[in-house]
Parts: sequence; C-alpha cells; structure tokens
Amino acid sequence: MNMRTGEPVEETAPPDLEGLLAAQRRAVLAANPPDLAARRQSLDALAGLVRTHREAMIAAVSADFGNRARQETELGELLPLMNGIRHVRRHLKSWMRPERRRPGLAFRPASARVEYQPLGVVGILSPWNYPLFLTLGPLVDALAAGNRVMIKPSELAPRTAELLERLLAGLFAPDQVAVVRGGAGVAQAFSRLAFDHLIFTGSTGVGRAVMQAAAPNLTPVTLELGGKSPVLLLPGQDPDRAARTIAMGKFFNAGQTCVAPDYVLVPRAQMAGFAAAMLRCAERMYPAITGNPDYTSIITGRHYARLVSLVEGAVAAGAGVRRHADPGDAGRRLFPPTLLIDPPADSAVMGEEIFGPILPLVPYDRVEDAVRFVNERPKPLALYCYGRDERQVAEVLDRTRSGGVTVNATMLHVGQEDLPFGGVGESGMGAYHGREGFRQLSHARAVLRMGRFNASHMVAAPYGRLVRLVTRLFIGGGS
Ligand code: NAD
Repeated sequence: MNMRTGEPVEETAPPDLEGLLAAQRRAVLAANPPDLAARRQSLDALAGLVRTHREAMIAAVSADFGNRARQETELGELLPLMNGIRHVRRHLKSWMRPERRRPGLAFRPASARVEYQPLGVVGILSPWNYPLFLTLGPLVDALAAGNRVMIKPSELAPRTAELLERLLAGLFAPDQVAVVRGGAGVAQAFSRLAFDHLIFTGSTGVGRAVMQAAAPNLTPVTLELGGKSPVLLLPGQDPDRAARTIAMGKFFNAGQTCVAPDYVLVPRAQMAGFAAAMLRCAERMYPAITGNPDYTSIITGRHYARLVSLVEGAVAAGAGVRRHADPGDAGRRLFPPTLLIDPPADSAVMGEEIFGPILPLVPYDRVEDAVRFVNERPKPLALYCYGRDERQVAEVLDRTRSGGVTVNATMLHVGQEDLPFGGVGESGMGAYHGREGFRQLSHARAVLRMGRFNASHMVAAPYGRLVRLVTRLFIGGGS
C-alpha cells in the first residue's frame, strides 16, 4: 500500500502462482481425498480462528474502510460465516454419502450411484465490500467438498488481505490453503490459472474478463456478480413499516452491498408519503452521519467521487433530491443517505449499480408497469417485493427473474444457509452456501457396477436374435 495516499499499489515481487498451484495439484494426487473427520477438522480450525481473532478482523476491516461499524462486521460477515460453518458441519456426513440410483432395466443386474468427489484445486477471487465473509465463505464450501484452495483477496481491503494471509498461513499448509495478494495484474494472472473451479465475486464487467480468462483452460466458474436489485412496493403498503427494512438494507455498510436494494418502485400516489418515511427512518437510524460509529465510510475517494457525480447527474437531469440533515464528511468519505425522486431512466444512477447510500424512488402507475420496468433490465441479483396479498406477491415472483428474493424485507435470504446464494444472467452463474455450495465444488461422479451375471457383453457383434429381441423390446416397432 502507498502509505502517503493510502491507495493500494501492485506488489513488487509477484507471488509464484504457478508454483503454488503445482504444489497443490501434487498434493491432490499424492493422497486419498480428505475424509469426513479431516474436513470437519479444517472447518473447526477455521471457526476457532474467527473466534480467536475476532477483534483483529473487525479492526482490519474498519481500517480498510476508514470506518466500518463493528456490528456490521459482526452481523454481516462473522455471524453468517459461523452459521455457515455450523450448518455445513452438521450436514456434511449426509451430503458426502454416495446416492443410490436405479440402473436401467436393460443393464441389470448392476448397481448405480453418484459419488461426490472433490474437484481438486479451487481458486477464490474476492471483493473488498465484505472482505471476510466473501473470502472465507467460499473457503468453507471448498474445504467441505474436500478441495485445496488458492485465494486472492481484494487489494482495496489491504489490511484485511494481509491479516487473512497471515492467519490462514498459521492454520493450513500452503499446499492446502494459500493466500496470494496483489492488484489487478496479479488478479488477471490468477484468473488464468488452470484451476479445477474458480469462484469469482465482484463486478459484472470484471466477471466477463474472468470467464474469458478461465475459458482456455475450460475452468468452470461460479460468478457472483452485482447489478441493480429492485424493490417493488405493491400498492397499499404501510410506508413506515416498509421503509424500516428497506433502510436497513440500503444503509448497512453505507449501501456497499451486492444485494442492497438499488432502487424502489413506488405506487405514484404513495410517492410523497414513502419518501418522507424513508428520510425519517434514515434519520432515526443514524441521528448523525459525521462521527457516528454506526455509519460506514465509502471505501476510497474514487468511489466517493463517483457517488457525488451520480447524484449531481440525476439532479441535473431533473430528479428530485432529499438528503439526510447531516451532509456527512467528504474528507472521511462519509456519504449521507440520499433519496432521488423519479430520476430519468437514462440517467447514470438508473444505468449502473449504485453501491452506495443513494436510493432512487421510481413511481409507477400499474403493477404490470413496475414488473415490465424490472424485466426490461438485466436480471438482478436480488428482488424485494413488499405486499400482504399473497396472490399479488406470487404473481410478481412468477413474472420476474432474479438470483434470490426476500418478501417483505431486504437482504435476509442471503443469510439462510439452507438456501442457495447466486445470481442469474448478468448477476452471475452458479450458486454456493450450504448443500448447493458443497455440490458446486464437488464432482458428481456416476459410478455403475455391473453384476456378476450381467449379460450385456452378449449385446455385441455379430448381431443376432438377442439384439433383435432387445431392440424390439425397448424401442418398439421395427421388424
Ligand atoms: P471487482 O470486480 O473490481 O474486483 C473483485 C476482485 O477481482 C478483486 O479481488 C480484484 O483484484 C479482482 N480483479 C480486478 N480486475 C480483475 C481482472 N481484470 N481479472 C481478474 N480479476 C480482477 O469488484 P469490487 O469492486 O471488489 O466489488 C464490488 C462489486 O462486486 C459490485 O459489483 C458488487 O455487486 C459485486 N459483489 C457481488 C457479490 C455477490 O455475492 N454476488 C458480493 C459482493 C460484491
């Protein structure tokens, strides 16, 4: 890191990526895959690490942001991580168990089953916004599936990356788990490695580059990307009640959350009441912005400047604006909660993922117009629908697509370990967490064992009466 500007710089001695991968691959081939006890031991060690170094982790993340509310690191990173470890630990035995399947009638006697085998070496490329959960979460699933792992955390959270490198090196041999640090150059080289699977969490644009880099090796990718996650407020909702959970999702981590509500579709007649409720709610949650330990800073000056220009652009294009009474502090990158009312659809704030505490409120006349608005845009990572009429909610869910959904709240589906987490279309591909994570990072290998008295070897050339009999029986028709 450049100590004067605080900006990250490229490491001078790039890590030996190929060497680390080769060592991990040798270790994969040298021994049987880890059994249940060994996998549980790795997970327990990771849980112990979090418990022992909880304060150091909270401090590192906060230093990287300038200020990150400690409760946000606890609630948004460490708690879901520990819940995830507990859930995986509890279910791993049943997930690892081979599944019996039925061999086809024509192939019996035989037995068929699916065996979940480790893929080998998994790469993890992670972002800065939840630098613990989005690095260690995929690691949990990768270890549960019996893999070896290489990790490249984000250079924009350098203290957290350094801490993770040091702590994980104390826990795992480099041929089991290795952390490498570096900027975009190292990240690009990392994404070109011939992993058995690569999990990338980050922006949609970089996700495209990662998939291209993985293609020559045919490395399968899980892409956990971003996008604009809408909230659809159905007519007649209590504005104060809805505003509370929308504000929680939007202002947590100052909006720097992949599943944060990006904008709200509001019935036109309710717009004024809902905007007032949102602002009231923001001011109640954060009576002050400056000097408030609960309010998180924007990660860098560049990200802060981008948010300023999104608001300026929308206002210049005719959007109404309502700001928190405390204007924040540009020097400390404290950006106040800001509502934009009816920004034009072609303004930048309605085109890019916001990733900050700016909330556009978009009026609609009929529910079908709101649904069309969502469907005319790339498929989002999350969709939030507020409504008490089950039928109306079900119709919105049926007619839209998104990675996940929370009804009558925001973001909470991500914390459900028994649900897959992932995007669809431009918000990503593949999913992890819980059983889906285990399956994503295992190879479901088909194993057919022929019975001793199996006669399939007789269905061979020179083809005679037996083959005719078999084909007549199983295909039908013919001579
Ligand atoms: P980013 O795409 O800029 O960077 C993510 C990682 O990719 C970093 O480790 C970075 O070093 C690396 N990287 C950068 N350029 C690369 C390249 N050309 N090739 C390979 N790797 C490269 O994302 P970010 O700014 O760190 O995070 C914010 C974005 O991530 C937002 O779009 C957000 O929605 C998304 N996100 C998604 C999820 C999810 O689970 N779906 C979670 C958090 C963040």
